[in-house]
Amino acid sequence: MALTEFELIRRYFASPNAGATRDDVVLGVGDDGAILRPPAGMDLVAVADTLIEGVHFPVGSAPGSIGHRALAVNLSDIAAMGAKPAWALLSLSLPQVEEIWLAAFTDGFARLARSHAVALVGGDTTGGALVANVQVLGFLPAGEGLRRSGGQPGDWVFVSGTPGDAAAGLALEMGAEGPGGLDEAWLRDRFLYPTPRVGLGQLLRSLASACIDVSDGLFGDLGKLVAASGCGAEIDVTQLPLSPALIRVLGAEQALQRALSGGDDYELCFTIPDSRLREAQTLLAGQATPTRCIGRLRSGSDVILQRAGTVMEFSHPGFDHFAR
Ligand code: ADP
Ligand code: MG
Repeated sequence: MALTEFELIRRYFASPNAGATRDDVVLGVGDDGAILRPPAGMDLVAVADTLIEGVHFPVGSAPGSIGHRALAVNLSDIAAMGAKPAWALLSLSLPQVEEIWLAAFTDGFARLARSHAVALVGGDTTGGALVANVQVLGFLPAGEGLRRSGGQPGDWVFVSGTPGDAAAGLALEMGAEGPGGLDEAWLRDRFLYPTPRVGLGQLLRSLASACIDVSDGLFGDLGKLVAASGCGAEIDVTQLPLSPALIRVLGAEQALQRALSGGDDYELCFTIPDSRLREAQTLLAGQATPTRCIGRLRSGSDVILQRAGTVMEFSHPGFDHFAR
């Protein structure tokens, strides 16, 4: 017999199957709404992101990856604000109810949710094209949220992780010819299972002057940070942290292009005032997530790329859904 909607929600989306259990969830999945108890003295941070089959992930992607990414992209936004995630809502549109698919989707979502102590507190389930919309709510001490807009000329520009891997991984997922083996598998995983930099974001709250998460390509997203901050930036492309796997698979030049313009990295790009640089370097060195200084904010309004003393021409705008 077909699963009723009630049974489907109970089985796949009710606590504890789909995330962490938390004391601040007064009422979770099952009623008309969730009742949540935010802590005193904290600001609430709210983010939302949608993944559409064929737009944000290839048709036929592994359901565990879709569940993971649907939450990860939101946790990345939470990280960029310097917040600690707490609660999530999941609105899912499904072409059909396939239990094997649903179990794997929920597993991908729930593993990541539990690892960040995030409770799934509600959502919606409908029939239609495959679309996952997730909202995450988190907290930070009142008034301490990070923004894109706080950067000043002279601040140092940093990026986490190794940008470009996910874009190469997506190309492989879409059928690009690869070398096989461990490098290819690792790059595919960097697209399929991104690591949101949640701990780093919270550390940056007390250090960074501005922060953005890199989802649409480093060059374009740094462009958004400098636009919001009302300044420009100069980046030394020889300092970009490229992964050994990316260089082996694409060669150094293509790897650099991917690192600048590829999407889906979910790394953090942030700025540190010169007066805090030493302290920041010490604290960042103690983090599990690697970070690298790649340049400096300056007056002006553009992102200028320097390579061994010459300006590198580059105009990739980053991904824009409406620029077709
Ligand atoms: P209503 O008919 O009142 O809109 P629903 O049947 O849509 O109620 O949802 C019942 C309960 O299940 C609600 O608490 C809702 O938040 C939750 N829910 C529905 N779909 C999901 C989902 N995909 N993930 C998490 N919670 C869900
Ligand atoms: Mg509803």
